[in-house]
Amino acid sequence: MTTLPPYTPASIVPGMYDILLLNGRVLDGTGAPARSVDIAIEAGRIVAIGDLSTATATDSIDATGKFVTPGFIDIHSHSDLTLVIAGQASSSVAQGITTQIAGNCGVSAAPTLDHVPYYGPLDPAMTRGMVCDWIDFDDYFDRLTNQGLGTNLATLVGHGNIRVAAMGWEDREATPTELERMRQLTAQAMEHGSLGLSSGLAYAPGPYAPLEELVELGRVVGRYGGLYTSHIRNQTLGIAAAVGEVIAVGERAGITAHVSHMQPGSPMLGATADLLQTIDSVRARGVDVSCDAIPYTIGSTTLKSLLPPWSLDGGDEALLRRLQDPAMRDKIKADTMTHGAESGGSRKRNLVKEGSWDRIWLGSAERNEHLTGKSFAEIGQIRHQDPHDAVLDVLLEENARPWMLAEDVSEEDFLNIARHETGGIISDGFSLIPEGVLAEGKHHPRSYAAFPYFLRHFIRDQGALTWEQAIHKLTGHAAARFRLTDRGVLREGAWADVVIFDPETIAEGADFDNPYRYPHGIDTVLVNGIAAVDDGRLTDSRSGRIVRRTA
Ligand SMILES: [Zn+2]
Repeated sequence: MTTLPPYTPASIVPGMYDILLLNGRVLDGTGAPARSVDIAIEAGRIVAIGDLSTATATDSIDATGKFVTPGFIDIHSHSDLTLVIAGQASSSVAQGITTQIAGNCGVSAAPTLDHVPYYGPLDPAMTRGMVCDWIDFDDYFDRLTNQGLGTNLATLVGHGNIRVAAMGWEDREATPTELERMRQLTAQAMEHGSLGLSSGLAYAPGPYAPLEELVELGRVVGRYGGLYTSHIRNQTLGIAAAVGEVIAVGERAGITAHVSHMQPGSPMLGATADLLQTIDSVRARGVDVSCDAIPYTIGSTTLKSLLPPWSLDGGDEALLRRLQDPAMRDKIKADTMTHGAESGGSRKRNLVKEGSWDRIWLGSAERNEHLTGKSFAEIGQIRHQDPHDAVLDVLLEENARPWMLAEDVSEEDFLNIARHETGGIISDGFSLIPEGVLAEGKHHPRSYAAFPYFLRHFIRDQGALTWEQAIHKLTGHAAARFRLTDRGVLREGAWADVVIFDPETIAEGADFDNPYRYPHGIDTVLVNGIAAVDDGRLTDSRSGRIVRRTA
């Protein structure tokens, strides 16, 4: 009797792989100490880890002297619409990001209001020329998949989208019918694979929503095992109460809750020490709460968030009418000069109240392109007017679209969060390409640089965390918090999202003067087993996938 050898398909003949990553120091994303092992990849997945020096493969990459880590996971991007303009996601891939979560701060690509996107805090000028042919996430995901995606993409659904679709930009509570519509839209987004709900309580119409509305929608999300994230209502004097509101949604809806960029502005610098203690005590009683932070002291958002939220009642057109009315302008300015950030909107309103115009810069504009990159102290001089009036006039001239940058948070607070068990690290940026509309203005360098900057500045230069801890934050921790399965760790069976970089040379290339430059020291980026960066060069692999919430 003859015994046949067991059948083995050619593609998984032992020792013959697609790619071998040899001789590197592997940080597997769990925080475990680095190990000198090889990795084999086959059909987009990691299939073997160990001594593979005798194995053969179609491609071999020698990682001697380099770190081999999981692809970085950016749990907070605003690439929702920039990916429609340019799917290659060059600025993200180049910094090692292989998966990003969009739909943050209450704004997502879907649902649209009959093909009109909700931009919320985003700048519609940045994606001009875009044709919006989707209403829901299924259609949006199809569009991106057909175009090809440089990174994997998961998304939250924005509360702003839901509220605007159900009841417009009104500064009032929802009627029972409107609330029911919001529940339906939230449920549909979850059925299409959204990870959960995000709110942007600094950006109209977010500030108009009471806690009860967020709890109601949180309960819908909870039925699907989703989570809730929030750009909180107040990041200055009222920050403890605002974090408390996120905790209340988590606790009352019975879901995981997450405070986005939990960085306090003046006069609450240092408040993260107390906030993180609150998170610890809440977690001890069983409420699953976490937070994250951006590794810069300069933030960036829409210029109109320097205004009190009531001035945005009714949407941009109503705002522009108010900005043309001298009495209304005085009322808007008086609100900020009296209350600063305490009457809502961005924490950066405190800079206006203090007159710190040299720490607020114009990030984007069309008619005023020549003013981008300049502070409002300079812009006031150039335009021969008070900087506060310059803000209102630039908003008017630019149809309420521009972005700003402003310096108002501390490295101490960033590090408190980065070192905390629940703290994540985020870019808060966009996927960009260095040409066309996505290369205009002077946006924040984080879109090209956040993670290499974090690794160079805080890890190599300061030793603020170990490399193992730092990589864990950018990979395994991020995947676990947002329940992305088979990503964020290097183990057999996981997707082959991998970064190979030199810990001696990794560094950002972009800064505030030149925000659209690629980083250094990142040699290889694999997205689902395909090289998106090969020998330091972008390949435009578009091997990313849509990542839907797993049941
Ligand atoms: Zn954000």
